[in-house]
Amino acid sequence: MIKRWFFCSIFCLLGAGTGVVLTYVFGIPNLAVFGTGIGFVFWLLLDSFYGLRLLHWLQQEQRIDYLHHYANELTQPDEFPKLLGVWSEIGYRIQRLLRINNQLLLESHGRLDDFLEALQASPNGVVLLDEKGRIEWCNQTAQHHFGLDARRDVLQYIANLVRDPVFKAYMAAANFADDMLMPGRLNTPTRPVTLSVHVHAYAKNKLLLLSRDTTAVALAEAMRRDFVANVSHEIRTPLTVLSGFIETLQTLPLKEAERTRYLSLMAQQSQRMQSLVSDLLVLSRLEGTPFPGTGEWITSSALMAQCEQDARALSMVLDSGQHRTMVFENMNLFEIAGSQTELCSAMSNLIANAIRYTPSHGKIHVSWHLMTDGKGEFYVRDSGPGIAPEHIPRLTERFYRVDRSRSRETGGTGLGLAIVKHVAQRHGAIFGIQSQIGKGSCFSLVFPASRIRVVMDK
Ligand code: ADP
Repeated sequence: MIKRWFFCSIFCLLGAGTGVVLTYVFGIPNLAVFGTGIGFVFWLLLDSFYGLRLLHWLQQEQRIDYLHHYANELTQPDEFPKLLGVWSEIGYRIQRLLRINNQLLLESHGRLDDFLEALQASPNGVVLLDEKGRIEWCNQTAQHHFGLDARRDVLQYIANLVRDPVFKAYMAAANFADDMLMPGRLNTPTRPVTLSVHVHAYAKNKLLLLSRDTTAVALAEAMRRDFVANVSHEIRTPLTVLSGFIETLQTLPLKEAERTRYLSLMAQQSQRMQSLVSDLLVLSRLEGTPFPGTGEWITSSALMAQCEQDARALSMVLDSGQHRTMVFENMNLFEIAGSQTELCSAMSNLIANAIRYTPSHGKIHVSWHLMTDGKGEFYVRDSGPGIAPEHIPRLTERFYRVDRSRSRETGGTGLGLAIVKHVAQRHGAIFGIQSQIGKGSCFSLVFPASRIRVVMDK
């Protein structure tokens, strides 16, 4: 203010001085008073000019949208006008305040953006709802879960957009103590999709809706239930038979021949349970141990020799080996990297299946050979009954059997091919099944070149 009065006084004094000089030169009286007035008016005009200039600068949209200038580095704020006196001081202070204010705004915008990006990266669906249940914001996962559109559906009532009755009832009841399970948008009878939804209240009656795809968890739970039911069933059958025989032996006076027959049947049943438990243990070991590395190398001929011995013994046990032709060939000498026990187990399962399902006059061909691209293939071909195409994709499921009675008669557990599939996966091998009804089957394991190395003849 002092500055202002100072400038005003200067102008008035200048006017008065000029008036005194003119009075002296031209002899016109009172020109000093007139000059003072002129000086004051001149100061007033100049002062108003700078005041208006500052006002004009402030009125420009850029002044208000300062933030935009800073956010966009290419656009610089308009130059601050040249001002004089107190207006220069006022302008400078306004400019400073604006800058601080906009800096704060920018920072809070940045923080909000970071926060929203974090929510966007969340693997769960996130929807922010206002106190009336209208969508304020949602992330991409929520868009996918509920079929929402983040732009289009802003301020729409979520209960109007997600039409599932369970969801509507949950929102209407407004009791958000527990999770709610609902079918997902892409749910179909053949491909079930389950969502778990939970709502949390925050701020003043606002709602945070979180959604999670629990399809895999539900599927794993269903598989676990099926597995337990299957194992129980598989064990209960021989147990029932065994306890029946035990009761008979305890209560009835049997002849020696009958006793021997019953005991042999009992031995069969307990053998069946043993095989089942042993296969279950193999499976759980395969699932619970790290994948075999490439430190251990086994020659294909050693693997083949071990399996051939077991195969011939099994063939003898099943039907005295009668007229079954079995060929075991090892075309090239090479080594496979992996676990000997697992590889033997997979090979034996395939060969045992061929023996068990091929009639006693049939042919079985087992081979290990190198492929042209450096991969190693093991296959078992039989001239058995073959498998209908609709069963092939399901053969590696645990306890899946095409011929249930033949499987049981020959001591099958329904877990053999599941074991083979696991061993193949753990060795990076491809498990292939080709079969034609009435013509036989071919089960193959193709190992990657990285797990095969040729052995030079010694
Ligand atoms: P299982 O112990 O019952 O043989 P697997 O998992 O080894 O169980 O095989 C699953 C089913 O695949 C068998 O029950 C059988 O119906 C069918 N299968 C497996 N190998 C053969 C084969 N070589 N020829 C015909 N069917 C086979």
